[in-house]
Amino acid sequence: MVHTELFNGLLINLLVILIVILLVNFYHLSNQKVFINIRLSSFLIYILSTFLIILSMLLSVELEDGLFYDLRFIPFLLGGIYGGRKVLPPLAVTMIATRFVFMGSGVASAIVLTLLSAIAVYYLLPTLSEKSWVKRVYWFTCFSFCYSLLAFLLPLLMMDYRDFSAFSIYSFTLAASTFFVFYLCEMIRTTYMLQLEAIKYEKMQVVSHLAASMSHEVRNPLTTVKGFLQLINENPSDAPTNTELSKIAVSEIDRATEVINQYLNFAKPHPEVKVEVDVTREIGRSNEIIMPLAVKKGVIVEMDILHHRSILGDPNKLQQVLINVMKNGIEAMDSGGVLKILSYEKAGRLVVEIADNGIGMTREQVMRLGEPYFSLKGKNGTGLGMMTVFQLAAAMEGTVKVHSKKNKGTSIILSFPVSGEDMEKEII
Ligand code: ADP
Ligand code: MG
Repeated sequence: MVHTELFNGLLINLLVILIVILLVNFYHLSNQKVFINIRLSSFLIYILSTFLIILSMLLSVELEDGLFYDLRFIPFLLGGIYGGRKVLPPLAVTMIATRFVFMGSGVASAIVLTLLSAIAVYYLLPTLSEKSWVKRVYWFTCFSFCYSLLAFLLPLLMMDYRDFSAFSIYSFTLAASTFFVFYLCEMIRTTYMLQLEAIKYEKMQVVSHLAASMSHEVRNPLTTVKGFLQLINENPSDAPTNTELSKIAVSEIDRATEVINQYLNFAKPHPEVKVEVDVTREIGRSNEIIMPLAVKKGVIVEMDILHHRSILGDPNKLQQVLINVMKNGIEAMDSGGVLKILSYEKAGRLVVEIADNGIGMTREQVMRLGEPYFSLKGKNGTGLGMMTVFQLAAAMEGTVKVHSKKNKGTSIILSFPVSGEDMEKEII
């Protein structure tokens, strides 16, 4: 009877730990501004672990007078592993202090056990952090098993308490739960890191795609300038014509330089920032970068900028969003067309609509947009562009709406909360 109780008690313990961990992970990750370090602060980890340790103890099962069994070792291990070495000593102290509240004959063995495991984790932590995550999970499970072994050996030595079936239940549940909890934590972390990697990778893909049309765009002015120089060379005495020719040549070179500069600026990695973003300027820059591709595909870009406030966020991210959406629009119009960019303000939000009259999408395709690796472009697509758009927009509290009709066209509606003063009102 007492064994069933032990097993049930431990399972409830596991359930509570799992619920808290899942909630924290999802809350934390969903609030993440992309690219920021995804670790929680050590202090927060300490508080969370303490909370879980206390919860576990409240749910513990008393086997013999004063001997409490629960899964408190799991939050302890979690705190130590993810919070780092500096969390371990205060956590051990907290765990011992909390244990005193319960008193009973098990206090002494609980203290020895806590100290031993704290020391073991403290010294093994640096070695563990170098191992792959699967190996780490095995190590943690091993820790738990050793802990459970000691949790029965110590009372056996100190109080001659022997109940081997209880030991088997406790040992098995603790080890299996540790495996499960850490596996889950590591899985969530790895998946999230992969997503972050994908955003960087996608940017590199876009950059390499654009490079081809970029070189084309730079070659054109160079050819023009070369032709002009030859003309000047052939007829050096015609000063008025030559002045005119060299003026055009300089402006052609200036344009090419601007295109290259914008492109390089987009391509290089940027640190995370949160500033007032001048959307008009970012639309202009994105247009500059995408222009060679548009020219190559025979697409005309029309702009209608009707907003006059800024938004809060990262200008480079907004650029990545705009370029991805504009690039998709241009690629959807294989035999030329018009890409319309319209911006306006509505109900406290700055809206940017990017519409093409290209191939469009079916309902199913629209539904799948943003799903990683969903692409209809074969080897020309990564299927990561729209995923990036959704994630980066969300990081700026933006939303992305898609309207599309097969063979008619697509419009992507981005909207962000406006920030700052209304410049027009200021002028008045
Ligand atoms: P990629 O462009 O690398 O294929 P994306 O995530 O940018 O990946 O887009 C996914 C897919 O969605 C594209 O392959 C395309 O089929 C479809 N798509 C995206 N934007 C448009 C658009 N403006 N018009 C038509 N189809 C689009
Ligand atoms: Mg794309």
